[in-house]
Amino acid sequence: MTSSNHVPTIALNSGTHIPQLGFGVFRVDPAETTRVVSDALEVGYRHIDTAAIYGNEEGVGAALQTSGIPRDDLFITTKLWNTHHTNAQEAIDTSLEKLGLDYVDLYLIHWPTPGKGTFVQAWKSLIEIAESGRARAIGVSNFFIEHLQRVIDETGVTPAVNQIELHVNFQQNDLRAFDLRNGIATEAWYPLGGGTVSDAPELKAIADAHGKTVAQTILRWHLQSGNVVIPKSSRKERMAENFDVFDFVLTDAELGTIGTLDRGDAGRAGGHPLEVGNK
Ligand code: NDP
Repeated sequence: MTSSNHVPTIALNSGTHIPQLGFGVFRVDPAETTRVVSDALEVGYRHIDTAAIYGNEEGVGAALQTSGIPRDDLFITTKLWNTHHTNAQEAIDTSLEKLGLDYVDLYLIHWPTPGKGTFVQAWKSLIEIAESGRARAIGVSNFFIEHLQRVIDETGVTPAVNQIELHVNFQQNDLRAFDLRNGIATEAWYPLGGGTVSDAPELKAIADAHGKTVAQTILRWHLQSGNVVIPKSSRKERMAENFDVFDFVLTDAELGTIGTLDRGDAGRAGGHPLEVGNK
């Protein structure tokens, strides 16, 4: 088994620490999830990112239980789905039961659904959930600056994490800067840009210079940019490839070159936070 000791951690405002490289399970078939997560744990991942809506929390839980890995060595995230903003207390209990856990390390509001006007109420519930010990840290996902500012202003509690779409074509520099100023860790979803790992010749040249793959180069860029990153793969060899990113360092010039690949809003590939879940 590969050691996971070399994965750096980032301090959260909750006083806990999040491993900077984790493993995401969006679109992992529930029937395959236990095998996939068991493979990821064997490769060395200790940070798993799931969500109620993925329908695979039970599979994640089964893999955790059979792994024999001490609970303190694991970092488990799940998320509150859009239709449960007003009953988060029940939603977290359901997730914990499916995961077979007493607490998660991080509980996130999945989307702000601003048209419904419920995310502040949901945030107040997450604060109570943290106080009850069922989540060691609480945060949000897909929040714009205006949504972050609103929950901070209305509750005085700053999210520990904002998990957002973030990849070389969509670098989100303004939102990342706001997060940094406010002590919020930025977590990147769709970190590889999905299956179509960017075929930009600049990335290939940088990867070749280090004897690494383009996917590894992209993940290294995330890590050196300070992002928490949670790539997904159902294939064990790719899990291992994506975990093998601690034996090289990109130069400032290489980071600058990757910076030029940002396409701003035109680079967004997933759902728009002002639209998802509003209906
Ligand atoms: P990723 O950027 O992780 O890309 C996953 C895709 O890339 C899969 O098709 C996978 O295929 C392929 N892939 C993985 N590794 C490699 C590699 N080394 N070389 C080539 N292809 C590769 O996108 P995701 O959308 O899965 O995002 C990651 C995680 O972020 C999710 O699993 C989820 O946990 C979280 N997420 C959160 C969202 C939110 O709203 N908060 C939204 C979306 C994702 P294969 O499996 O066949 O290897």
